[in-house]
Amino acid sequence: MNSKAPAQAARSDPLTAEQRRLCMSRIRATDTKPEMIVRRGLHALGLRYRLHDRQLPGTPDLVFAGHGALLFVHGCFWHGHDCPLFRLPASRTDFWEAKIARNRTRDAEALAALDADGWRSLVVWECAMRGRARLPLDELLGRCFHWITRTLPSAEINGDWHAASAARQG
Ligand code: ZN
Repeated sequence: MNSKAPAQAARSDPLTAEQRRLCMSRIRATDTKPEMIVRRGLHALGLRYRLHDRQLPGTPDLVFAGHGALLFVHGCFWHGHDCPLFRLPASRTDFWEAKIARNRTRDAEALAALDADGWRSLVVWECAMRGRARLPLDELLGRCFHWITRTLPSAEINGDWHAASAARQG
């Protein structure tokens, strides 16, 4: 990280207690709700996949072996996303900063190793699915589907923070 993350967090709106509770309590589980939504949606679109392949670096959430594609659903707090959903806790800040920095390093190493092995990776960030910057679900699933099936290079899908802040000001 992450010398810049605290400044980023300070510039954005603080999370509500409820948002923070969701962030802290739900994103560590293996089958987080956003991941289940992506899984069910892509299955409904006809795609088949393996789950949580521990043989691969970073244990991708979904493996589309026939497409050479991997999909990760990342919680913005736990994986240290550069977005307003990421905000270091006020207590034990140093501990959390170091921990999240390690997570980010591990994520970057996993993506690099996967790339070197010829995999394509798509990271879907939590903020694309939850909160005021979330995308319409059909748009999100459509983007995932096209990325998987059209052999597009590695990418990320973020929440639409630009539209979210424009809507708030308008
Ligand atoms: Zn995010």
